[in-house]
Amino acid sequence: MKNMIQRTPFLLIAFALLIFLNPAFSQSNASTTFKCVVLGSGGGIEENNLSAYLLASKNSNDFICLDAGTVYTGIAQAEKMGNFNNVFVPSGDNITKTAFIFRELIKGYLISHAHLDHVAGLVIASPALKHSNIYGSAQTIDFLKNNIFDWETWPNFTDDGSGLKLNVLSYKTLIPKQIQNIENTGFKVTSFMVSHQEPYTSTAFLIDSFGNYVLYLGDTGADEIEGSGHLGEIWNFIAPIIREGRLSAIFMECSYPDQQPETQLFGHLTPKLFFAELENLAKITDMENFHEALRGIPVIVTGIKPSWKEADENKYLIYKQLLLKNKLGVKIIIPEQGQLIEF
Ligand SMILES: [Zn+2]
Repeated sequence: MKNMIQRTPFLLIAFALLIFLNPAFSQSNASTTFKCVVLGSGGGIEENNLSAYLLASKNSNDFICLDAGTVYTGIAQAEKMGNFNNVFVPSGDNITKTAFIFRELIKGYLISHAHLDHVAGLVIASPALKHSNIYGSAQTIDFLKNNIFDWETWPNFTDDGSGLKLNVLSYKTLIPKQIQNIENTGFKVTSFMVSHQEPYTSTAFLIDSFGNYVLYLGDTGADEIEGSGHLGEIWNFIAPIIREGRLSAIFMECSYPDQQPETQLFGHLTPKLFFAELENLAKITDMENFHEALRGIPVIVTGIKPSWKEADENKYLIYKQLLLKNKLGVKIIIPEQGQLIEF
């Protein structure tokens, strides 16, 4: 016990040092295209900090929300950190700023899969919604329709499915590999299926803002472990975009440290698998010179699962393992709830 208490500050200092020494942590420069406000960055246990990332063009407040594990709490945290200082509630609107951002500025939710840690925030806050759209694969929308907004688990706040439809959320089904508009934003999206412990699938979203792109991967296992070629297919699709210098960032999950046994990955990545996949992408992008192919691209690491041990080492451990394996020179970013990241 005493040993643990003495070790915790050491880990915190080491983690802070790693963050400080990594130039990618604080991002802001004139050439950036997108901004992201992190509403939730964790992959489990703590219900107040689960995967959800607001994304907008740098000079716009028309946000989409990539997954929706924690929404309302994340907005409040970002406000506290001064990251919504450019948002003003119109005089006469007798609502809090958190409610205004939630009701007016989030134009659509892109849900990678229906696991609770990716949807709970939207479900719980749905009574406060004005109107928004849910974009997802046919499978994701089916699960939301039949298992969540079904008047049994939760009232039906959507425009389809069982019983009375409260119509504040409209389902928009994404067809894989088809370019579709995200209403009320300048964004378009192309979706891809990924494996999340076969046969269950999750989704990746390639967001297009006037020819600049962000790739968001929902929970996913590695092709090698899942026995699928889904990530390979995405890498082939985005390699030309990278060659043209038009990929602004990748959001990629890394749920467990390398110590996690391969038989207990449950459709997730470790630092070793994370970089095996990025190396596949680098080779497809530029086989001759793959060590340079992805250099400098920001990779935001999502879904880290906190451990429940007294000294939670997972975030520090995963960050350390990623930095040590980063032969490709990508900019590893470990997001914090409420943080603003520009890329
Ligand atoms: Zn999941």
